[in-house]
Amino acid sequence: MTVSVVPSVSISSFLRQTRNARTFPITLIRCSSSKSSTMEEHPKRVVVCGGGVIGVCTAYFLAKRGAAVTLVEKSAVACAASGKAGGFLALDWCDSGALSSLARASFDLHRSLAQELDGPQSYGYRPLTTLGLSIAETESQATPSASVSKPSSVPNWVDGPVRSPKTIGTPDTTAQVHPQLFTRTLISKAVENYGAEVVIGKLESVEVEEGRVKSVALEGGRVIESDAVVLALGPWSCKLELLSSIFRVHGLKAHSIVLEPKNPDAITPHALFLTYHPSQRGKPLDPEVYPRPTGEVYLCGMSAEEEVPDDPEQIVGNPEAIKVLKRVAKTVSSQLGEGEAEVKAEQACFLPCTDDSVPVIGEVPGIRGCYVATGHSCWGILNGPATGAAMAELVLDGRASIVDLTVFSPARFVGRSRRGKV
Ligand SMILES: Cc1cc2nc3c(=O)[nH]c(=O)nc-3n(C[C@H](O)[C@H](O)[C@H](O)COP(=O)(O)OP(=O)(O)OC[C@H]3O[C@@H](n4cnc5c(N)ncnc54)[C@H](O)[C@@H]3O)c2cc1C
Repeated sequence: MTVSVVPSVSISSFLRQTRNARTFPITLIRCSSSKSSTMEEHPKRVVVCGGGVIGVCTAYFLAKRGAAVTLVEKSAVACAASGKAGGFLALDWCDSGALSSLARASFDLHRSLAQELDGPQSYGYRPLTTLGLSIAETESQATPSASVSKPSSVPNWVDGPVRSPKTIGTPDTTAQVHPQLFTRTLISKAVENYGAEVVIGKLESVEVEEGRVKSVALEGGRVIESDAVVLALGPWSCKLELLSSIFRVHGLKAHSIVLEPKNPDAITPHALFLTYHPSQRGKPLDPEVYPRPTGEVYLCGMSAEEEVPDDPEQIVGNPEAIKVLKRVAKTVSSQLGEGEAEVKAEQACFLPCTDDSVPVIGEVPGIRGCYVATGHSCWGILNGPATGAAMAELVLDGRASIVDLTVFSPARFVGRSRRGKV
């Protein structure tokens, strides 16, 4: 299978338009501190399937509200897109579309979670400035000259031939997290503080009796009884016929590299959204660059439609796409070129995309107690918290107040395709 080095759909254009695994023991730890008395007596048993940012945020808020939560993840928590994303957050970049209130609520929740969970230390939460830049690759691929004159808004470490810089986000409106650390911090807190359980196993089926969820069955035969099930399987959602009979989620493969420059202190907190002109003729690319407080610099881009492999651990980057990202790094900054920065990761993962580009969040039509949350495309790290908080309200109270979920309901697809058997 080949991947085009010219993106068919790029992460940046999504953003602009709408804009080793750690496993947990299979043990049950229950803490009573924050549970309400009714929950204490009869905690609702909720199985959340999928240990990406969406499943984990849902598990966190459910467990915090007192539900007896079991998170089922087939490989490792944050092993897929939620561990390999940029982690960029924006308050108002989704304002013109259906995601507006979800994104705004999530941006605020990220800020309060960072205070609650020591986000700056635990998972690299920080507000940052975001610049849009145009940059042209030089034929020779020579190391860029520090003497190229550039506008003062461009930080010193960006010493490549940049043009047309624009401030497109300020520390009030843009921020970042390290997505893998964020997701793993949240699940650790859900386990330690609120008694959630993590089971490493593959969901095979949801058992339904008289139109209501009864249990889930895992590969190997284990059955977990439950009052409610939340399916947060990302680009694997449609491997489950229960969902694929209603709507489609396809995977868009995107690449990223993580670099460790020799002098990380010289790299300021500026996220860069590039219009990158390759030296060979071809369409401009739009890679993104995110320096992290860990001292690393993350670059992503180069996306293409591709079949999602069954096992997340089998997802590898296309060498040509990785090469392009390395050239982008070197063109942007002499500090990110070969010999100046160590390559810590070369990777790929899949964005979960729906046919109408709107996430699917809500109860599955016709099955009481069965919920779905997926299709967050390029904004899942941003929108994880409000999705999780709203889903917890929906499951426990019957309706969400933090965000109006109507626009996200899976019921919008009913009638567009025929339901098959569960
Ligand atoms: C290169 C790149 C950069 C990105 N940058 C950003 C960004 O800067 N900001 C932002 O907001 N978003 C960003 N995103 C988007 C974001 O990463 C995704 O929207 C988000 O991670 C999706 O989360 P998820 O939980 O739905 O899916 P995933 O992270 O894919 O998690 C799904 C999980 O379900 C598990 N699973 C699947 N099937 C089963 C089964 N049968 N049983 C049990 N478990 C199962 C998988 O193992 C996986 O762990 C980026 C994405 C990419 C690819």
